[in-house]
Amino acid sequence: MSDVAEKVSGNMTNTTNTKPNGTTALWMRDVVVTYPDGYEAIRGVDLEVAAGEIVALLGPSGSGKSSLLRAVAGLEAVTRGEVHIWGRNVAGVPVHKRGCGMVFQDGQLFPHRSVAGNIAYGLERTGRTKQQIATEVNKWLDVVGLEGFGDRAITTLSGGQAQRVALARSLARDTGLLLLDEPLSALDRDLREELAVELRAIMTRANTAGLYVTHDHEEAFTVADRIAVVADGRIKAIGPVPVIREQLAK
Ligand code: ADP
Ligand code: MG
Repeated sequence: MSDVAEKVSGNMTNTTNTKPNGTTALWMRDVVVTYPDGYEAIRGVDLEVAAGEIVALLGPSGSGKSSLLRAVAGLEAVTRGEVHIWGRNVAGVPVHKRGCGMVFQDGQLFPHRSVAGNIAYGLERTGRTKQQIATEVNKWLDVVGLEGFGDRAITTLSGGQAQRVALARSLARDTGLLLLDEPLSALDRDLREELAVELRAIMTRANTAGLYVTHDHEEAFTVADRIAVVADGRIKAIGPVPVIREQLAK
């Protein structure tokens, strides 16, 4: 990544001093993540994601993308700095109460539940009736192009179908913010490109903001509105896709 970082260095175009508020999906200031062994994986990151906006974290393996995402999700502790989700400081707030959904590379679906059962997961214990849940599950199956798949067992799905179910499960919770960690990386190149286009369309349709981790330039260009170039635990550059694309092409 050092070559990429050099190409785009000095291009810090988006550090604003706006205050966090309810219309900003994600707002981070000076976030540091230090692992128990003392390694500083994130070294002072400022970042904002607006409502409905998709921001890609683009960088090579080991640059700190997952550490940053996991810190937002509450899966890693923040050593310093602040994370606000929908205007709320989430320090000390447990993972499932942070107001964001997550999609991982391998989907992490519940193997003992059907496709519908997976999507219904976040809708249970919300006061909805069984019928309401079924209606919503069918809506989300439709949105991700899996109508009729509700009764299927997870083990019968292709990799692409499983990721669609993972996306539907996260979208169904209606948090307005998804954290996606290389959600397409386990798929073949052709399928990855096709799903990247669809994923953006689905998230746009659902008016859901996203922080989208990838090491794949083309995928970032396809999915995101803005790209943050990550290297050595820092954001080296951030800007709209056309701007960063041009920087990286030089
Ligand atoms: P990426 O997602 O960009 O590949 P990661 O966030 O997974 O990068 O890792 C960033 C750096 O932090 C790497 O050097 C990695 O070895 C280190 N790291 C990740 N998890 C831990 C951990 N639990 N303890 C110590 N170091 C870690
Ligand atoms: Mg990673």
